[in-house]
Amino acid sequence: MKKVLIIHTGGTISMLQDEQTGSVLPANVHPLSGVSDLLIDIAEIDEEIIYSLPSPQITPAHMLELAVFIAGKRADYDGIVITHGTDTLEETAYFLDLVMDTEKPIIITGAMRSSNEIGSDALYNLIAAVRTAVSENAANQGVLVVMNDEVHTAANVTKTSTSNIATFQSPQFGPIGLVTSDMVLFHHKTLPRPLYKNVNKISKKVYLLKAFAGMDQEVIQAIHLLKPDGLVIEGMGQGNLPKQTVSALQKVIEDEIPIVLVSRCYQGIVQPTYGYDGGGKQLKDMGIIFTNGLTGPKARIKLLIALEYTKQHSLIDDFFKNGV
Ligand code: ASP
Repeated sequence: MKKVLIIHTGGTISMLQDEQTGSVLPANVHPLSGVSDLLIDIAEIDEEIIYSLPSPQITPAHMLELAVFIAGKRADYDGIVITHGTDTLEETAYFLDLVMDTEKPIIITGAMRSSNEIGSDALYNLIAAVRTAVSENAANQGVLVVMNDEVHTAANVTKTSTSNIATFQSPQFGPIGLVTSDMVLFHHKTLPRPLYKNVNKISKKVYLLKAFAGMDQEVIQAIHLLKPDGLVIEGMGQGNLPKQTVSALQKVIEDEIPIVLVSRCYQGIVQPTYGYDGGGKQLKDMGIIFTNGLTGPKARIKLLIALEYTKQHSLIDDFFKNGV
């Protein structure tokens, strides 16, 4: 029988609803630890609780620590399952996807309803994640997110609803597999992806800014004063910004601070189509780095990792050209 390690990090999947107040809070004892009896027919299970954090409190430093923890354990297991809060689950999944080789499956899951709420998806998602972790086809697919009977890639998945259990979607390309009562069915294979091994610290300061109608130079100047190591901007449409931002952006670039542009649209990629002031062509000619389909939070994770390797603009540009 295959061996799976379940690593708990916190989130709603580790919480219980207070029957008096209705609020959802961390439990004294993890409600899903010790359910291995229910998983006995699927795999031999070991469990570790490394954090009990609501996921808004998870930082890139935790993500790196988790990667190091998994690297130290996985020789002993056929697959790894991580339980995580859903709010930042996609950032942790993508971080691990960039730094970890997934010859053995690494699956992340969570829950939208805590274990004692009516219609809880906590135990159900955990079982589906373990079933995916022992599936042959889950190997070498990158880090996978299993929620609500679907298998998503870390690169594409995003939380789309604040409360619906069908919250995790891959708006660009859809899920790559389904979990049914009988099987875990993969219908796509992921492309080979770049792997950034040897990241041993996350030390840089990268901000994420969303463009808005009427945006001008002030917010960019304020960020510039904070001396960031990098900036990610969720631009408009195909990758455009109001013209009033351009001179402040130019000054950031002159200080050799990389600026990465993604779109605030949730589908499509940024490209240098428009030649007007603030249009994508002008931004690209100025040296702003274009991504290919990442969300803002994920582009920020990638830039944090890229900056541990290099400050050189052309190399950072390559990071963002290389797959997602
Ligand atoms: N706020 C919770 C968290 O991310 C939501 C969840 O886990 O679903 O920790």
